[in-house]
Amino acid sequence: MKLHEMTADELGERLASGEVSAVEVTEAHFARIDEVEESVGAFLTLTRDSALEQARQVDDRRGGGEDPGPLAGVPIAIKDVLCTRGIPTTCGSKMIESFRPPYDATTVRLCRDAGMPMVGKTNMDEFAMGSSTENSAFKVTRNPWDLDRVPGGSSGGSAAAVAAGEAPVALGSDTGGSIRQPASLCGLSGLKPTYGRVSRYGLVAYASSLDQVGPLAKNVRDCALVMNVLAGRDHRDATSADVEAPDYVTALTGDVSGLRAGVPGELMGEGIDPAVKTTIEAAIGELEELGMAVEQVTMPHVDFSLPVYYLIATAEAASNLARFDGVRYGHRTEEPVDDVYDLFAQSRAEGFGPEVRLRIMLGTYALSAGYYEAYYGQAQKVRTLIKQDFDAAFEDHDVLLSPTSPTVAFGIGEKADDPLQMKLADICTIPVNLAGIPALNVPCGMADGMPVGLQIMGRPFAEDTIMRVGDAYQRATDWHTRRAEL
Ligand code: GLN
Repeated sequence: MKLHEMTADELGERLASGEVSAVEVTEAHFARIDEVEESVGAFLTLTRDSALEQARQVDDRRGGGEDPGPLAGVPIAIKDVLCTRGIPTTCGSKMIESFRPPYDATTVRLCRDAGMPMVGKTNMDEFAMGSSTENSAFKVTRNPWDLDRVPGGSSGGSAAAVAAGEAPVALGSDTGGSIRQPASLCGLSGLKPTYGRVSRYGLVAYASSLDQVGPLAKNVRDCALVMNVLAGRDHRDATSADVEAPDYVTALTGDVSGLRAGVPGELMGEGIDPAVKTTIEAAIGELEELGMAVEQVTMPHVDFSLPVYYLIATAEAASNLARFDGVRYGHRTEEPVDDVYDLFAQSRAEGFGPEVRLRIMLGTYALSAGYYEAYYGQAQKVRTLIKQDFDAAFEDHDVLLSPTSPTVAFGIGEKADDPLQMKLADICTIPVNLAGIPALNVPCGMADGMPVGLQIMGRPFAEDTIMRVGDAYQRATDWHTRRAEL
């Protein structure tokens, strides 16, 4: 097997034994990037020199007898929504095309401290708004399994990079599905942690009550390895939780007998492609064979998730994106302007793409005087009901199961003019963000020649349990070992 085909775990073992050096591993991934990046288009920025410098430092530390940790020398790709010191951080937007952050996001710093060379910054839907990466202001990213299809989004660049072998693991962010859905569409394992489990310091905010950072990888074990690096309290993020993080790797015991799983009927009904549904049912059957007890559950309020999300997420986005006015932050128009308000309006009209403008307008409306209670206030109340549905389901069940995406990857351009269809791509993932719980995607079959993903949802801070289930599934099946042929 070639180095770029290996998992982070396999690379880590070979690095620790001295069989390969961090420089060799990093060079192998850049060789792969040279080979395939032109057709995949996963990256907005490549950081070859600094990655090799990081790799050399890891090799020096090992040479000096130090144990720099299990991921030292394993390269990583970072979604362009996470601040990287001195390195462009564009969020896929012209608005902050020239931004060079003066600091690293906490998650970026943790990966650096773990000795992971950063290969580059990955493409994304502008400000993480989208499900196909087609909303990037800069380029199209293609699905390595079929270059005419989307990789999903908004972390589509991170997913495509890992699926193409350009990086063994990547970081993404997930507000309504942006780690899990691209992981599903590209045949990867991807984890959205519990709200508060991972620091959001240095993550450019989309919807602050929903955003989380997490890993995309070739298997669940690699997700657990990266979570051992990321999880924990950060005094720089007031929403990060003061909850002890377990060792996620030793939690992967392979034993799931006696665990109880619920399957919400609301996430298996209308809108789920029949071929996806059949595949998910087979995967659930496999988990039963591994000793899990499975039963149907109902979650009556989950059907309202999409409208609730598009009020809350747009309202929070409108507030968060207000700072990009061409004066304090962001692109400033060079056209003649009448006054400061005209300067704001012109700069924002030029800097933001159409989807972002649409959402700012929706969110501003939902928050406006006289409508706040009717829209935002009401949405918050229904959000509580959705959360209570999950609390009730988790009283008798350790995990909940559903498809991650209702369809396999769709064609580039296919849904670009149909905003409702695009938003329906997230019907199974959005409820998870509203409830703040963790969820994992694992590949569980193929339909129409493309990967299908199973979503495993868990109680707050039960990342160890859902990864144990996903890992047990991967010990019994080989879907996660299939690779896109490029
Ligand atoms: N597709 C959803 C949206 O457009 C979710 C995106 C995300 O999780 N960042 O808002």
